Amino acid sequence: MVAVDVRHYQMVIAGELVDSSSGDVMQLVNPATNESIGTVPRSTEADVDRAVAAARSAFEGSWARVSPSKRARLMMKLGELVRERIDELAQLETLNSGKAISSSKIEIIAAVEDFEFYAGATTKIMGETIPAPFGMLYYTVREPIGVAGQIIPWNYPFLMAAWKVAPAIAAGNTVVLKPASLTPLTAFKLGELALEAGVPPGVVNVISGPGAQIGSYLAGHPGVGKVAFTGETATGRTIMQLASQTMKRVTLELGGKSPNIVFEDANLDDAVNGSIFAIFYNAGQSCEARSRLFVQESIYDEFCEQLVDKTKRLRVGDPFDPTTHVGAIISRAQLDSIEDYIQSGKSDGAEVLAGGIRPDDPSLQAGNFLLPTILSRVENYMRVAQEEIFGPVVVVIPFKDEAEVIALANDTMYGLAGTLWTRDVARAHRVAGGVETGVLGINTFATAMPGLPFGGYKQSGIGRERGLETLKQYTEVKSIIVNTSDRPVNPWKL
Ligand code: NAD
Repeated sequence: MVAVDVRHYQMVIAGELVDSSSGDVMQLVNPATNESIGTVPRSTEADVDRAVAAARSAFEGSWARVSPSKRARLMMKLGELVRERIDELAQLETLNSGKAISSSKIEIIAAVEDFEFYAGATTKIMGETIPAPFGMLYYTVREPIGVAGQIIPWNYPFLMAAWKVAPAIAAGNTVVLKPASLTPLTAFKLGELALEAGVPPGVVNVISGPGAQIGSYLAGHPGVGKVAFTGETATGRTIMQLASQTMKRVTLELGGKSPNIVFEDANLDDAVNGSIFAIFYNAGQSCEARSRLFVQESIYDEFCEQLVDKTKRLRVGDPFDPTTHVGAIISRAQLDSIEDYIQSGKSDGAEVLAGGIRPDDPSLQAGNFLLPTILSRVENYMRVAQEEIFGPVVVVIPFKDEAEVIALANDTMYGLAGTLWTRDVARAHRVAGGVETGVLGINTFATAMPGLPFGGYKQSGIGRERGLETLKQYTEVKSIIVNTSDRPVNPWKL
């Protein structure tokens, strides 16, 4: 495990690196060792007020005066700075989150692509001209909303920060970003890099503090015009209520229990390899993790055999080792919760085909590690098939035919992502049309791509992230009605 420079990190408010007004701090640990990596400010409501005021002042002042093309250049510059620091950012991400270093690099590159995508979009935020009667002109303009309060989780700290900040500032808003208490470090870096790129002070503010106090205060803040939240569905409900007090615009990216459907005519190697990646990437701590694996009866045994064999080949261990596939779980509490789920599955009759226990490597005992786990003999009604485990656990469920698997796939409160594996083109599109998810992969594990809207049906959320769809959700539409005639205005003949 790497040597750690234990230090204090600061928030970014109004272009300055600052501490909490109370001087209070929160401790951070490395999930791979549970040793301290330093402290961050535990901000107060007064700090949130300060950040919102800074964002408001930048929104009305400096940022409003930056032309769309200058905004594009600043965002490209920010993307370039991130690209130049991939190694540094990836190290920090892995230290703070426990994720495999190879994953941190992938996610930071993906974040750069988001800045580049939205840099290209700043000059294409257009209104419309609407056909109007003679003597009238109708048109619309898209205006930024104002200050966006953005609250993100710990599973993809830098990528989620980019998904939030890039479209918001591209559309002319300013932001107050609150990363998860456990993983604020790369979000602070993003705030610093935005300043280095030349983005005016106050446009990107990053504060740290506990969600229940600071997150909720931000979500209900009267100075915030839009709340963009990513996290658990239960927290999303609270955010919606808080935002309703002043009718804030809301986007919610919430939990998932995504289906992965393998038909008997699939390319079995691809389906096995892809299914393993789709659940065990980031130790299964992904909203879009394909955690319910439905396999057609006729290939169930053969598929499970290959799945188990290849899953056992995954390297679980030191997140800083470039050959590691599965790093640490974010916290001891999360590891305990995952183990409780495995126990609940066993009590309900599930059979553990792989994993289910911590690795026995002595060097991993202090950290939060779990072997990738496969549960079979699972029924879709069981807790392990219905609730988001958010760990490296997949349940495998057999099915007979298309109709049955579509019904099973949809029998969940979630609807975020999904994958299906088949060589039959007609079947692929038929089933894709029947599954209630915001994103669906056909013969691929991929789900979240720059430019493509990402988000959920049902209780997986409201609105979309990424793509031009999101840009719209960071704007208000204003309809302008113009009288271009020279006739007198006198409707009541007064
Ligand atoms: P969480 O809901 O506990 O926390 C998310 C953020 O909300 C954190 O910053 C937290 O401090 C803050 N928060 C907590 N309680 C709050 C409150 N009462 N008011 C305001 N803010 C509050 O989620 P988590 O455990 O950090 O992340 C895991 C969850 O995120 C999973 O459910 C996962 O599916 C979801 N997620 C969804 C997506 C998506 O795009 N749909 C992406 C990543 C993660």
